[in-house]
Amino acid sequence: MLFPTTIAGSLPKPEWLAEPNTLWAPWKSKGDELARAKRDATMLAIKLQEDAGLDIVTEGEQARQHFVHGFLENIEGIDFAHKVEMGIRKDRYKAMVPQVVAPLRLKGRVHADEARIARTHTARKLKFTLPGPMTIIDTIADRYYGDRVKMAFAFAELLNQEAKALEADGVDVIQFDEPAFNVYMDEVGDWGIKALERAAEGLTCTTAVHICYGYGIKANTDWKQTLGNEWRQYEDIFPAIDDSPIQQVAMECRNSKVPLELLSLLKGKVVQAGVIDVASDTVETAEDVVKVIDAVSKFVPKSNIVATTNCGMAPMRREIAEAKLMALGAGAKLARQRLG
Ligand code: ZN
Repeated sequence: MLFPTTIAGSLPKPEWLAEPNTLWAPWKSKGDELARAKRDATMLAIKLQEDAGLDIVTEGEQARQHFVHGFLENIEGIDFAHKVEMGIRKDRYKAMVPQVVAPLRLKGRVHADEARIARTHTARKLKFTLPGPMTIIDTIADRYYGDRVKMAFAFAELLNQEAKALEADGVDVIQFDEPAFNVYMDEVGDWGIKALERAAEGLTCTTAVHICYGYGIKANTDWKQTLGNEWRQYEDIFPAIDDSPIQQVAMECRNSKVPLELLSLLKGKVVQAGVIDVASDTVETAEDVVKVIDAVSKFVPKSNIVATTNCGMAPMRREIAEAKLMALGAGAKLARQRLG
């Protein structure tokens, strides 16, 4: 089947789980009650994706407060009690971040609960997202390693342990999110891809990397204004990604200033093409989705195109995110008829 559908990863959380329409939203309950709320929200996220006709579903990242820090919470060597302010993505925005204060080690499984809940409640293919090593080290303060690369590889090793366990839980696709890849282009070639490969080492399931220009929050939309009319950052990093064994690349294509011709640098990859804009509340039509898929197909063989959202939908309003899911499913279906 052409143009299977998926989402970048996250969906908005119901207001009974966490504060709506915000990133880093505080939970509404704690202990067992919170665990039950996360479980219910995970099942709901899957149901919404199934009903929209999506083929490769995720747990909607309902059980994590943030896509990076969700992974960090079960790691020894991180001090969450004393957060410090840090500039993120070359000072694009400031955030209060935890600090690495000792050698890093997994205390146990990180995402076992939500992966198993998701696996139990859907027969569809299941994708699970993890933050990539470069993005992690750009979102945490270092008071121990004293070396970005060394710390990145320490995280890569832990990611690899969790990724292998997720694969054993029945996850079909593991996607590493690397929004830092278009900010530190030199480092991507020097060590970013290598760290990613370390994180994916030995996996037999499908592997993917999601690169992107960020959620539709103000700091990101302001930054995008400074990038000019054409965003060519990926020209520098696609050859290195193409050489890597990572199988899929997820990238925004709808309302994007990334020239789609850059996709022809990814000859051997399946492209998860973002056909739904998450920085706008305007809900796409099925026709809009077909147009983007058609444009992408000029540079990527149709059999290598997966239709997805540009980025996570965590900070969106729920009814808009749900309408966009339906548009994604309907649009891919229409594209199969028109372009198949
Ligand atoms: Zn993204």
